[in-house]
Amino acid sequence: MHDLVIRGGTVVDGTGAARFVADVAVDGGIITAVGHISAQGREEIDATGKIVAPGFVDIHTHYDGQATWDSEMAPSSWHGVTTVVMGNCGVGFAPAKKDKHDWLIGLMEGVEDIPGTALAEGMTWDWETFPEYLDALERRPRTIDVATHVPHGAVRAYVLGDREMPGAVPTDADIAEMSRIVEEGIRAGALGFSTSRTVLHKSVDGELVPGTTATKEELIGIGRAMGRVGYGVFEMASDMKRDWDEFGWMGALSRETGLPVTFAALQSIAKEMPLEEQISSMIAENDNGANIVAQIALRGNGIIMAWQGTVHPFRFKPAWAEIEALPWAQQLVRLKDPAFKARMISEESVFPESDIIDFLRIVAGGWPVHFEMGPAFNYEPRQDESIMARAITAGISPAEYAYDLLMQDDGTGFIYFPILNYRDGNLNFLEELQTRDDCVNSLSDGGAHCGTICDAASPTFMLQHWVRDRAGQRITLENAIKRQCHDTARLYGLNDRGVLKSGYLADINIIDLDRLKLSKPWLAFDLPAGGRRLLQKADGYVATIKSGVVTFREGKMTGALPGIVVRGPQNVLMAEAAE
Ligand SMILES: [Zn+2]
Repeated sequence: MHDLVIRGGTVVDGTGAARFVADVAVDGGIITAVGHISAQGREEIDATGKIVAPGFVDIHTHYDGQATWDSEMAPSSWHGVTTVVMGNCGVGFAPAKKDKHDWLIGLMEGVEDIPGTALAEGMTWDWETFPEYLDALERRPRTIDVATHVPHGAVRAYVLGDREMPGAVPTDADIAEMSRIVEEGIRAGALGFSTSRTVLHKSVDGELVPGTTATKEELIGIGRAMGRVGYGVFEMASDMKRDWDEFGWMGALSRETGLPVTFAALQSIAKEMPLEEQISSMIAENDNGANIVAQIALRGNGIIMAWQGTVHPFRFKPAWAEIEALPWAQQLVRLKDPAFKARMISEESVFPESDIIDFLRIVAGGWPVHFEMGPAFNYEPRQDESIMARAITAGISPAEYAYDLLMQDDGTGFIYFPILNYRDGNLNFLEELQTRDDCVNSLSDGGAHCGTICDAASPTFMLQHWVRDRAGQRITLENAIKRQCHDTARLYGLNDRGVLKSGYLADINIIDLDRLKLSKPWLAFDLPAGGRRLLQKADGYVATIKSGVVTFREGKMTGALPGIVVRGPQNVLMAEAAE
């Protein structure tokens, strides 16, 4: 008798091996057999005709606040994800002295667009040090496992105190203290350290984030602290300015410590190096003994624009400024008024002074790269699907076409704007990157960018688009699963998961690939204090199993909360398990 037997599914085991039909047995949260299983299970699931794959491991999320008050961990948990790594991009909430709570919330709100009011109401701050934060996380059970980095922003604020400001140069003693805190955090269970060096990441007051102007000595000093522990991943988002020599020090650091350094690899107007150069620079360092891994997104990093979202094309119009502070019901009345509409369309935008002014201009009128987002939306839209093209066909101005789109469904319409990763108007550049071992599936930003982006659904998109529906070259199911399970887990030393074999953690997805479909995103107001977030569900997840327990069935939470805090690298749980 087994705890659970999954019968007759098509197993894609996460190693990249060809799929095969088999039963899967689970006991005590561990996979105990894969093959023909004659013994019964206390629970049985018929998976005939379905894909049976490991749970997804998402290494780039920002649930640092949410994980302290929420057990469901949506939207990632709705998309087959059973493990998340959070604390990315240098932002998070530990260590934290009392007088820095508001500052850290402002940093997270500014960088990751998570409502500060939700964070302020949701978090109890029953920690100061990083180890205490891990203990606080541990007090709440969840649907999924969580793991985290020590975030640079919090560490810097903790050590520098009121000296922390853009351009602040830490003393040798400061660097030693930061390194000590990072080492302490990693020994307590963090899987790495993260920092951010990009003008796109700013605090809610518009200040550059702490890592942006960090010196090489500071970054290497902290990296060495991880080297002393002997494990940990150094994660970074950067504008890749050539004179910062990012690949030089990432290479040197990974060679010296033997630890991986990973960075957000994107086509972005904020990055001085084009993506091709980011990749070739990485390869040159890796050929010279470095261990640098590029984090790639699987689609355009798309901003979803809506009247109630963070941005929309009319955001900088004087008419919008008039109604910006009104409650939504009153805004809607004004937006429906034809005279108001005519004024908003004809007025010129008035932009604030900004070092991302080029970006703001595209938000406000980049009609060739703005796309209508309906229920059967194609995340790799063609030129002839742009608002520009459709307005021409309709014989109206693109601004009016966009206005009408946002007014759909009583003012809840969406416009999709792939701000990053869509320079060529297609995703062809990702075909090759998805075959490379030095590129890892990432950048979902789960839990973040609540008013603009919902890429936590990336694993579903990967299967729906890249494996099944894409018009151009696709990737194999076996490769897709390996990349989202095995490869992501291995980068972070989570060697106990991501593979569906005897001895591994029973984190399992049962997926009806024919039926798999992303639903239209929606804006929910369900964070603490009524905070706003974009959510997106999917059809086709028959069941998601975390540590042997069914957590979701057909997209509905069962109520079981087997998820834990993962502390440090993990090993397979049974001796006979071997890859
Ligand atoms: Zn991030």
